[in-house]
Order: sequence, then structure tokens, then C-alpha cells
Amino acid sequence: MALFSPWRADFPALAVLEAQGQTYLDSAATAQKPQALIDALSGYYTCGAANVHRAQHQPAERATRAYEAARIKVAKWLHAACPTEIVFTRGATEALNLLAYGLEHLIGAGDEIVISALEHHANLLPWQQLAKRRNARLQVLPIDSAGRIDLAAAAELIGPRTRLLAVSQLSNVLGCWQPLDELLRLAKAQGALTVVDGAQGVVHGRHDMTTLGCDFYVLSSHKLYGPDGVGALYGRGESLLQLRHWQFGGEMVRIADYQSAEFHAAPLGFEAGTPPISGAIGLGATLDYLAALDLTAIDRHEQALHDQLLAGLSERSGIRLLGSPQLALASFVVDGVHHSDLGHLLTEQGIAVRSGNHCAMPLMKHLGLDGATRVSLGLYNDGTDLERFFSALDQSLELLR
Ligand code: PLP
Repeated sequence: MALFSPWRADFPALAVLEAQGQTYLDSAATAQKPQALIDALSGYYTCGAANVHRAQHQPAERATRAYEAARIKVAKWLHAACPTEIVFTRGATEALNLLAYGLEHLIGAGDEIVISALEHHANLLPWQQLAKRRNARLQVLPIDSAGRIDLAAAAELIGPRTRLLAVSQLSNVLGCWQPLDELLRLAKAQGALTVVDGAQGVVHGRHDMTTLGCDFYVLSSHKLYGPDGVGALYGRGESLLQLRHWQFGGEMVRIADYQSAEFHAAPLGFEAGTPPISGAIGLGATLDYLAALDLTAIDRHEQALHDQLLAGLSERSGIRLLGSPQLALASFVVDGVHHSDLGHLLTEQGIAVRSGNHCAMPLMKHLGLDGATRVSLGLYNDGTDLERFFSALDQSLELLR
């Protein structure tokens, strides 16, 4: 019997997409949204939008309370010590850019910033550009054939010049957990700051910032079933104190004069201008929805789907997986078939998967590829989605080979 998702009905878009003949298997790019989020957004806009932290009127107070309540929800989701350790951003990419500018003063000529070979452009380019601005060196940790960062190489490369380590928790291409504990330990031993790109990892399970022990962790709401245009930066209390302000404007400033200004500390000092108010409120509602679910059951369901995905791919000849994905997604190439031709035929059959470089061009080059096809799963996917995918895959490969 095909695997059934008890949560599918909570996501109205799935039924709409199905009626349109679409099978959605691209949740690692962006996830569909639960009704709880749609209701929260509609409620916020229907009851009267207002700016936060500015006016005294009642709608403004209501918006500010809801916005700050969302901060508490994100802090709880991550087991942060305090809500002030959460800065709302416009996505994971902006959070990483915030860090690359906010920590710039700590990087000097000849210092080293360490990332890994599998990073998404969002966790590569901000550090690459920072290294250029400061005449620092970007060191790239190699990965093994499974797609995990090579710890022996990391022990060699993370050294006394390392000022900062920035790595992904879960690769958006290779689908495997990275050995964060060991990597963070190596970096800490050198007194380096640590940044974890949790854009993919945060979607699977609950991660405890107090035990993980990184200085900074970034997440993206739209991959976590929340609205787009919002993300969050977690920063350990004392680590946030090291950040310099990077964007300037309304409400991040305590006192402003024509020639000088004093800025707020985090979080408000890093939320210049009107923040993503509805986005934060929607993310909070999404976390409320997720928190009420049985996360162990979700884990089991996603694992069973993933096993089925891997089994189906391995049954078919000429298919090569990228790395050894453990959960959530599988990227693959097919001998003699270009990924964009396959992507095209799958699209024609209503299969929404991703084909391309997955915002990880250097990783693709490292793997000797110009792209791959990626199937990624959400908690709402079921066995029927995979059956439709495999049937479309077989038809496509029959035409292409
Ligand atoms: N990091 C990883 C691993 C990702 O997969 C993504 C998005 O695909 C990002 C960062 C960027 O996230 P956002 O879309 O919130 O900027």
C-alpha cells in the first residue's frame, strides 16, 4: 500500500496542485504552506496591518505584540536561551550577508575563513567577498564520497589563522547531515567563530542551539513551511555582541544626529527599516502548527518515503546518486541523459522537481557535473507522489535513451 501522509490535508495547495495534474517534489527549494499559516496571514491583514515598534495606536501595539510573540516562538523552536538571540531577516541569504558584514572587523589580512566544498552559494559568496575585502583566505574543506565534510582534512585545515568556520548542517544537494559537533569543536579549539547554515537542516527535527554550541545559526522560513521573505538569525548572546551594525535606517537607531548616531543592540539594531512583519507572524503560526504535530511520526514518514525514493532510483539502470543521501532529498544523474532534457520531460508530465546546479556551482564542478536532477520531500508527500514520479521518470528515460 502506498505511504499515506496524515498531514497532507493541512496543506490546501496540495489538492489544488493535484487537480492541476502537478506532483510537488521540490520542497527543498520552497515548501507548501499549512492552512494555519494562511489563516494567520489573512487574520493579520484582515484585522488591520500596522508597523511595529513605532506608533502607540492600538493596531501598532497589536502588530508589535504579534511580531515579538513570533520571536519568542522561533527562540523556543531553536531552544535559544532568550528571544533577544533571534534577529528576523528577509531569509537565510540575508542572515549570512548580515554576518559577513557584521563580523568583517574581526577578519584581518592573512586570516582564514573556512567553509566546505558543498556550500550553497548563500554560504559561499558572502564569505568569498568578505575574504576579498579583507585580504583574507577562504579555505575550503573537502568532502568524502558520501558527501560528508572530511574530518581528517578539517583537522589539518582549521588552524591558528582560522577566524571563522561557516558550514551547512544538511546539504541541499547531497542530503546528508554534516559532522557539526566535531567541526565546531575543531573551530572552537582555535578560538574561531562558528556559523551554521541551517536552511535545510532546520526543516527536519528540532535542533537545540544550547547543545549545538555554534555562535550563529541561520534559517529560512519558506523551507520550513512558513512564508517567504523572512528568515532568522540565531546568535548566542555574547556572540551577537561581536557584530557591527550593517544596515542603517528606521528603528535600529537609539539616537540620531546629522553627523553621528547610536544604535540599538540586537535584535532591533539588526532589523533596520520595516521588518518582515507579516512574514514573522506567519512563521510563528507555522511553528505553532508544527509544534503540535508528532515529530517522531513525521520523521518516520519522511524516512520511509526517502527509503522508497532511494530504492526506486537504485532499481533503475544508469542512475547515479550524488553522495549517499540520508534524508529529505536525492540528487542524481542518468548516464547519457542531460539533466535539463530530463527536467523538461518531467515538467511536461506534471512532475515538479528541480534540475540544474542547485545554487552550488562549485560543488557541481567538483563532482564533474554541470547539474543534476533533485527530488525533495516534504511531510505532505506520500507514496502516490513517488509512484507518479517513477512512472514519469520511466517514460522520460524511454524517450531519452
Ligand atoms: N542555504 C541552503 C543550504 C539553502 O538550501 C538555501 C536555499 O536554497 C539557502 C541557504 C538560502 O535560503 P533563502 O532562500 O532563505 O535565502
